[in-house]
Amino acid sequence: MRGQMMDQPLLISSLLVHAERHHGSREVVSRRCEGDLHRYSYRDLARRCRQVANALAGMGLGRGDRIGTIAWNGYRHLELYYGGSGSGLVVHTLNPRLHPDQLVWIADDAQDRAMFFDLTFLPLVEATAARFATVEHFVLMTDRSHMPAQTTIPNLICYEDLIEAAPERYDWPVFDETTASSLCYTSGTTGNPKGVLYQHRSTVLHAYAAALPDAMGLSARDVALPVVPMFHVNAWGTPYSTVMAGAKLVFPGPALDGKSLHDLFEAEGVTFSAGVPTVWQGLLGHVEENGLRFSSLRRTVIGGSACPPAMIETFEKTYGVTVLHAWGMSEMSPLGTVCRMKPGAEEMTEAARMAVKSKQGRALFGVDMKIVDADGNELPWDGQAQGDLLVRGPWVLDRYFNRDEDPLCYDAAGLGWFPTGDVATIDADGFMQVTDRTKDVIKSGGEWIGSIDLENIAMGHPAVAMAACIAAHHPKWDERPLLVVVKKPGREVTRDELMAFYEGKVAKWWLPDDVVFVDSIPLGATGKMQKNKLREAFRDHVLPTI
Ligand code: AMP
Repeated sequence: MRGQMMDQPLLISSLLVHAERHHGSREVVSRRCEGDLHRYSYRDLARRCRQVANALAGMGLGRGDRIGTIAWNGYRHLELYYGGSGSGLVVHTLNPRLHPDQLVWIADDAQDRAMFFDLTFLPLVEATAARFATVEHFVLMTDRSHMPAQTTIPNLICYEDLIEAAPERYDWPVFDETTASSLCYTSGTTGNPKGVLYQHRSTVLHAYAAALPDAMGLSARDVALPVVPMFHVNAWGTPYSTVMAGAKLVFPGPALDGKSLHDLFEAEGVTFSAGVPTVWQGLLGHVEENGLRFSSLRRTVIGGSACPPAMIETFEKTYGVTVLHAWGMSEMSPLGTVCRMKPGAEEMTEAARMAVKSKQGRALFGVDMKIVDADGNELPWDGQAQGDLLVRGPWVLDRYFNRDEDPLCYDAAGLGWFPTGDVATIDADGFMQVTDRTKDVIKSGGEWIGSIDLENIAMGHPAVAMAACIAAHHPKWDERPLLVVVKKPGREVTRDELMAFYEGKVAKWWLPDDVVFVDSIPLGATGKMQKNKLREAFRDHVLPTI
């Protein structure tokens, strides 16, 4: 028997329509590349999104066409998110931190027909425009007064002119909810990047789940500032879940240094934020050095790579800001788990509570996860057994864009699971902890050593700014941990002091065999440590024999 409820597709445009009707006067504030602060309301946003939809249609772009963006977090980028996806186009966000050759490759693979970009990226697009084989329209996301007097880009269009000329009336089309909505490429450590094609249904369901109290806990009373870029897995879905909730949105634009962020947090009364650990390091450094506080910030999502417990402690104990440690990936839209305590946490000792808080957290409803051994057998949820982490759910990737090979693996029951490439434990309460990337594990005498644990401990030392633990070749054990450390400016620590710092914190056979100090650790385009480059750099490192 079929249920008798309305058959209404879940579409991204409905989030905007709802926000305009119910939160029309709520503000969207953006730091622009032009340098100033721009503010308008959800009502203005909705009107301009309809104009964007009309303008895109006027450019001859239709359902399923890909439009590229190379842009910071800002209101014009948000207008493209809604105007583009809402009208049935696929918004393809490109990461400007990638090498230009890679950008060209990605735009070509996606067959982008238009490229929208911020003023910051004018030189980048000028240098690459001729190589974007499929791009017919280049649009600079600025107003007439900031258009360059001369440019090598043919027929460069001014975004504000384009919008101004477009009618304000537009009826959002209704189509199948499985229609593609946006596209984001994920760059692994080897091979070409792979496209993850999101759909309306997956995006709306993910927005619901992300807004839940045990996830980001978003409400109409929130003021949200996503630091995580809109070109990194759709800013972890925040442009959808905040609009769904009717929260005030604050966009930092290109100004991502500690001072600019803190100024904006304070001026706009930001209550909620989200970003990778490296960003928060800069912000905390600025706040500590200048004796500042957070007067409105209540909670922040930290993910993308493991959040060191020392950072969680500083945020919570010194500044009264709750850290929501989260884990996910581009292939998961991205949220998989968020670390929110269960009842009874109040009675735990501080150390036990922190041990839980440093885990990556519990799965959101909608995400199924399990850990398996090398033969695919499911491992127990005892917090000890570690294995390959597999996931499934309505916002988990089925297959990569333009790639026929199926990334799923199938269990005995014939169910498809996505292999995340992470190694993890899950405890009896369902808290998952990532111990490593499969490619980063250190195998000493056949036993795994968790590099993230070793890094977290080093990060707890007051003189350590950044730490990476990699496998170094060992004649007897095959691999042993080598700790690579960047010191904080003006702080000193020796190899022996760091080695002593580990005592009593991990099993003896986990202790790093050596410590090397470097000026910097290479970071990838989304702020993650590139351990493959470190492994390459220290390939011939000779470990001490004692
Ligand atoms: P990306 O698709 O670029 O967002 O990368 C996803 C990968 O980042 C995951 O598979 C993890 O290896 C890593 N990652 C994301 N969040 C965390 C976290 N909280 N702790 C440890 N690793 C993380």
